[in-house]
Amino acid sequence: MITRRALLASAGAVCVAGIARPALAENGPVVLVPLGGIPALEVSIVQRALSVFYAVQLVAEAPRALPKAAYYPARGRYRAERLLSALETSAQASQFRVLGLANVDISTTKGSIADWGILGLATLDGRVGVLSSFRCRRAAKNPEHIAHRLGKTAVHELGHTFGLEHCPNAGCLMEDGQGSVLTTDREFDLCESCRSKLGARGLLVSPRALPPWPKP
Ligand SMILES: [Zn+2]
Ligand SMILES: [Zn+2]
Repeated sequence: MITRRALLASAGAVCVAGIARPALAENGPVVLVPLGGIPALEVSIVQRALSVFYAVQLVAEAPRALPKAAYYPARGRYRAERLLSALETSAQASQFRVLGLANVDISTTKGSIADWGILGLATLDGRVGVLSSFRCRRAAKNPEHIAHRLGKTAVHELGHTFGLEHCPNAGCLMEDGQGSVLTTDREFDLCESCRSKLGARGLLVSPRALPPWPKP
């Protein structure tokens, strides 16, 4: 959510502007990889949220253990860039995107802060992303609130892998969280600018569907 890395700028998507086509036929599936003990319910919440926005085939894999190499014992967290590396290493050529889903605290380096807790991290226009429900639970009103935040975070991180950068439009799901899950609480939908970029790549669900969370 908060931090992204502009690396691995791979030509992951075929750009066919103006032509309505199913992305899934050409591009292979977007694979959700449950990491560690994330509940199946949270995986299905992510799957549902993504299906409202992205015209891709979504496949959930069997859960995997969190890679030990990503653990940062000094803070009891998992380093998100190491999770991305592990996901990239295990990805198959036929997989369009790979999104790791965790429920532990994840972190990365942000500016002068060596270990900064984050909601998620993704490669910009790259193949892999990772997110965690851990910070979605902070001061949440109820389970639905957590689910809404988790779904919004997933749309945000997968959006990065589809080339969307942080968006200056307040309330857009691609807004920069600036370190707080509270940003998600004021978000509802992707803005028209972000939608048009996805649409140009044939990645947007049409006709438009209502997000599975209430308007703020
Ligand atoms: Zn972001
Ligand atoms: Zn936007």
